[in-house]
Amino acid sequence: MEVQCKKCGSVNRIQNVSQQPYRCGKCGAFLPTSQQSGDTSQAVGLIGGAALGAAIGGPVGAIVGGVLGAILGKEGKGGS
Ligand SMILES: [Zn+2]
Repeated sequence: MEVQCKKCGSVNRIQNVSQQPYRCGKCGAFLPTSQQSGDTSQAVGLIGGAALGAAIGGPVGAIVGGVLGAILGKEGKGGS
């Protein structure tokens, strides 16, 4: 996966996320590599969007809402 440094903006390629913490190869700042938090925010967006979609338009709305929520959740963590 690729993680963009929040400090200098350079993209760091990370092979093994379990080897934490990771530091930016350019400026040495810690990178937000916790894959779990990223997955969680996406899952939260997915669930939230699905719930919202279900409230609006039943099963189809849930699917649309889930996709939308996943996108929103991904955006919320600052993109990839
Ligand atoms: Zn950096």
